[in-house]
Amino acid sequence: MSKVLIIGAGGVGSVVTHKCAGLPEVFSEICLASRTKSKCDAIAAQLTRPIRTAQIDADNVPELVVLLKDFQPELVINVALPYQDLHIMDACLECNVNYLDTANYEPLDEAKFEYKWQWDYQQRFKDKGLMALLGSGFDPGVTNVFTAWAKKMHFDEIHYLDIIDCNAGDHGQPFATNFNPEINIREVTQRGKFYEDGTWHETEPLSEGRTFDFPEGIGPRKMYLMYHEELESLVKHFPEIKRGRFWMTFSDSYLSHLDILQGIGMTSIEPVMHNGQEIVPLQFLKSVLPDPGSLGPLTKGRTCIGCLITGIKDGQEKNYYIYNICDHEKCYEEVNSQAVSYTTGVPAMIGAMMMLTGKWKGEGVFNMEQFDPQPFMEMLNVHGLPWVEYAGDLSAIEL
Ligand code: NDP
Repeated sequence: MSKVLIIGAGGVGSVVTHKCAGLPEVFSEICLASRTKSKCDAIAAQLTRPIRTAQIDADNVPELVVLLKDFQPELVINVALPYQDLHIMDACLECNVNYLDTANYEPLDEAKFEYKWQWDYQQRFKDKGLMALLGSGFDPGVTNVFTAWAKKMHFDEIHYLDIIDCNAGDHGQPFATNFNPEINIREVTQRGKFYEDGTWHETEPLSEGRTFDFPEGIGPRKMYLMYHEELESLVKHFPEIKRGRFWMTFSDSYLSHLDILQGIGMTSIEPVMHNGQEIVPLQFLKSVLPDPGSLGPLTKGRTCIGCLITGIKDGQEKNYYIYNICDHEKCYEEVNSQAVSYTTGVPAMIGAMMMLTGKWKGEGVFNMEQFDPQPFMEMLNVHGLPWVEYAGDLSAIEL
């Protein structure tokens, strides 16, 4: 029985709130707070039990402290934007509250993805006897747990790790992003980066592509090498990994729109003057693109996210592929959100459950793969994200 404060009433916040509200035996009281209170109230109105809602600017630590002291939660689930991570962690430290998020901190003026800023909070959380769980979404999140599960159950050593994220859904829009457009485009347009033999190698954005034949009828799709934050923690916690890469599928139409938008400067985060006012082109672009939340009723098809792993078991080389398939329309039926918000929100709820029920315990700042994957894997099957260990022949797959 625990009180939880959820911050952020976007696509992911809505799923987390629905899922937590469905488990009163774990989440006895819920407060949903966000920049725009009417969005919290709209989500609250869809639930079968009452929750509290509040307006908050999560960049304002004193304001956060007032809310935390008033509501006194055991845990904050941060599903606002990555810019808010450190402010919310500061407020948690001041009020002795545990912390969970789904995306690593990013400075507003630089699209830089690294855990350093949040790992630097390790001693402060430890000194206070508090726990911070970083990246409890799908990727990062479930992909870290899949890797820990593979190591626990199937490998003595993991050597090659490819995380593969496919959204085979279609929303019928000429161009839209599946989650917050600003964060999504910052991520996709950065330089690619992968880890090999102890060094990070950079590539031009989306310059490295492969075709992968996705299971269960999804079929062949083009995917591109990108940098994703879980690679940084996974190669730290599994130092035997020789090569770690992350791939994401994009349609030709998405890429050609992005190419044009980039070419004319619309994806830039450098401020420009417009009618005597400073604006950031990417933030302006966000305001004219479809709100990802509005794509829920329009999106059909499935996502398939998983880990393809090669390593050693009992002296023999072994290949292994584990994935989840999630159907956009089924997610919408259940919680009024499409599968990208669903696949992030469900693991955030499960991570919170792991912390509040004491299945995952610790003092300090942690990534998902540092805990026993078993109870989390069991809950994925129970709460809507069942996983599959591929039974077919993997010997011919070369990425
Ligand atoms: P949305 O843009 O839909 O929602 C973000 C919410 O945060 C909005 O309600 C917004 O308020 C609120 N917010 C923004 N700034 C503040 C602030 N200063 N104070 C209070 N509230 C604020 O994003 P998503 O729901 O798509 O994504 C949420 C998070 O999940 C992001 O950090 C994203 O990176 C992460 N994510 C992680 C994934 C994973 O697999 N690990 C995958 C997908 C997303 P308002 O409504 O007023 O704009």
